[in-house]
Amino acid sequence: MLVDPFGREVTYVRISVTDRCDFRCVYCMAEHMTFLPKRELLTLEELVRLSDAFIELGVRKIRLTGGEPLVRRNVIWLIEQLGERVRRGELEELTITTNGSQLERLAERIAAAGVRRINVSLDTLDPARFRQITRWGSFEKVMAGIEAAKRAGLAIKINMVALRGVNDDEFDRMIAWCGSEGFDLTLIETMPMGEVEGDRTEQYLPLSLVRRRLEQRWTLTDIPYRTGGPARYVRVEETGRRLGFITPLSHNFCESCNRVRVTCTGTMYMCLGQEDRAELREALRASESNEPVKRAILEGIARKPKGHDFVIDRRRNRPAVRRHMSVTGG
Ligand code: SAM
Ligand code: SF4
Repeated sequence: MLVDPFGREVTYVRISVTDRCDFRCVYCMAEHMTFLPKRELLTLEELVRLSDAFIELGVRKIRLTGGEPLVRRNVIWLIEQLGERVRRGELEELTITTNGSQLERLAERIAAAGVRRINVSLDTLDPARFRQITRWGSFEKVMAGIEAAKRAGLAIKINMVALRGVNDDEFDRMIAWCGSEGFDLTLIETMPMGEVEGDRTEQYLPLSLVRRRLEQRWTLTDIPYRTGGPARYVRVEETGRRLGFITPLSHNFCESCNRVRVTCTGTMYMCLGQEDRAELREALRASESNEPVKRAILEGIARKPKGHDFVIDRRRNRPAVRRHMSVTGG
């Protein structure tokens, strides 16, 4: 079992399967990014082995993320392999976080592989604004993808990053739309990760403020639903759907943290907001047995820090961690 020095059991791993993406969201990436050479990446077979090592150590839930996980070539094979672990009862759940651009093509196969829920990132319902935020994304394609996912029977949660002066006039509309489509919604505060062109302090919008504003229009009832992450959930009584607030800048969720993140090169980050890491690739490649990599995972977990040090303020206008969100996938 994976238990860290603070007694927290790690049962959830997020795996970034690629650092590449077909979008360039302004808060996530710079327009011109240098990506890892392909030879640095774990192969899909290695990603399965790594997942098995985590499962053998008690991990019950895996989320595939990125970059954009669904642009990795043949990623559907990986999804099917991990879906097989769900079918065999070794894994409770396999989920995916995606920008939706490839869902039209892949939703059916994702659902058939045994995935039941996906998160789709969508910061606006306005096509022109969508283009401004994602720089390269097509709103129509994402909407068609969301429709395909719905048809395939996948439960959908929309992730919306709250950006002051960009989409802060759209929360009501998004709540209503998610209500009518049958989707849950999570609002996310921007996190200071990696250099981007814009000024994050300008865009930072505390969700405590957003919640107070929403309460003037909607009846929000606190519910005890927890995922072990930084989200707190309410039920929107008018729509019956869940609404989550991810407030990573407040520390109060770290004590229940149940997760670690692994990059596409096999680097494990024990905390989203800290630089400390454990390299798993060499251990994975050193032997056909999973024992060396399991030892490396255990050594890393033994260093899992108590919490993060994210700060957004004007005096320290620089990222709290240098890597972009697309490295660890959030
Ligand atoms: N490409 C996929 C997507 O967009 O859903 C998966 C990876 S993306 C890095 C995962 C989530 O992180 C998205 O919901 C995105 O909006 C969010 N995100 C990216 N950069 C962020 C930042 N600096 N602060 C807060 N959320 C961020
Ligand atoms: Fe790509 Fe997702 Fe980052 Fe947008 S948030 S640039 S879709 S990885």
